[in-house]
Amino acid sequence: MTQHRVEWRIDNACEPRARFTCSAPLGAQCRSWCAVGCEEICTDQPTSHRQEDGTVIVVGHPWEDSGECRIVTWLENGGTPGELYMGEDDEPVRDGPIETDWDGDAYLWQYAEDAK
Ligand SMILES: [Zn+2]
Ligand SMILES: [Zn+2]
Repeated sequence: MTQHRVEWRIDNACEPRARFTCSAPLGAQCRSWCAVGCEEICTDQPTSHRQEDGTVIVVGHPWEDSGECRIVTWLENGGTPGELYMGEDDEPVRDGPIETDWDGDAYLWQYAEDAK
C-alpha cells in the first residue's frame, strides 16, 4: 500500500494546486538521508565486519531520518505536477493514493492502481 497521496485544492482563480503528502513512519526509506551527506541517493547499507584481530569495522553509510519525505519534497519542488505525471491521459483529477518512481532524473507520480 502506498504511503503517498495527492490532494487538489482550488483557489478563487480556480487554479488547481496539488499537495503531496507522506504518511510513512519515522525512519522509512523515503524519509531518510545518508548521515554522511551523500547528495545522490546512497544505497550503501552499513554492515559490520569482524577482522582477524577482532576489531570490528563498519562499512557503508548510516542513514538517519531527515524529518521530511524526499519524494514529497521532490514532487513539490522538482517541477509542476503535470511535468512529473507519468499516468495515463484523461485520468480524472482527484485526491487519492499515488505511486511514485525514480526515473534516474526525477520522481514521477501516477494514481495508485488500487484506488480506481
Ligand atoms: Zn552515503
Ligand atoms: Zn514518503
